[in-house]
Amino acid sequence: MVEMSGARADIGVIGGSGFYSFLEDVTEITVETPYGPPSDSLFLGDVAGRRVAFLPRHGRKHHLPPHKINYRANLWALRSVGARQVLGPCAVGGLRAEFGPGTLLVPDQLVDRTKSRVQTYFDGEVLPDGGQPNVVHVSLADPYCPVGRRVAVDTARAGGWDAVDGGTLVVVEGPRFSTRAESRWHAAQGWSVVGMTGHPEAILARELGLCYTSLTLVTDLDAGAETGEGVSHEEVLQVFAANVDRMRTVLFDVVGGLPPIAERDCLCVDPWGGQDPGITLP
Ligand SMILES: [Zn+2]
Repeated sequence: MVEMSGARADIGVIGGSGFYSFLEDVTEITVETPYGPPSDSLFLGDVAGRRVAFLPRHGRKHHLPPHKINYRANLWALRSVGARQVLGPCAVGGLRAEFGPGTLLVPDQLVDRTKSRVQTYFDGEVLPDGGQPNVVHVSLADPYCPVGRRVAVDTARAGGWDAVDGGTLVVVEGPRFSTRAESRWHAAQGWSVVGMTGHPEAILARELGLCYTSLTLVTDLDAGAETGEGVSHEEVLQVFAANVDRMRTVLFDVVGGLPPIAERDCLCVDPWGGQDPGITLP
């Protein structure tokens, strides 16, 4: 069923159909944004007593490569249905031998090595409703919600998955994987995992005052850390498929462990620090 309005959710999960397809009473809604359409419809369902909006990051047919995802529309759409906490599970490559396939790492830092992505709402461009964003500089010193991170790590560990607490996610443009030299360089910087979608998701969530927590699942050892042929897409899909049930269990438990929206008191709540965004947030 497709509804156009009136649907609400507390929490957004940006992830594929493997996370919501078996839920009872999923409501599909289409959301329009000033930035164009999000990757797909939102799929709303009840998880652990909370209302959750699922959004397939790459579209339900997985047709959008990482650099073509409309990240601004995705985060805006989630906020517009009421979501204030967002969980962003994603597949990554491990940059250290001990972060092998099947590792769950909850990063606390982010490095942007993308090239072509719009990464702000505050670009001065007039919106269709006539609103014009001011130049606003938000802090991204701590790019992830500290509360969401804590809940994610504790929840995974309580369920028997020894999640890595912290680490740096470096985000590359893709869709190709890294060369061996790039991969060795990333590892030499002390960075932990490499992905293609964590940026600009985190910064856009912050600009909208959303709590954002990244949960990265290592599907392969990146080119530099590996002695074989390097990463293949097949390998990534296989490991992700083998772990999707486990990921879903953790995600749902994290949903149940997040504080109610009204009790949010983390740094994510007011990223503007007295600066006027100049636009009306949904
Ligand atoms: Zn937060």
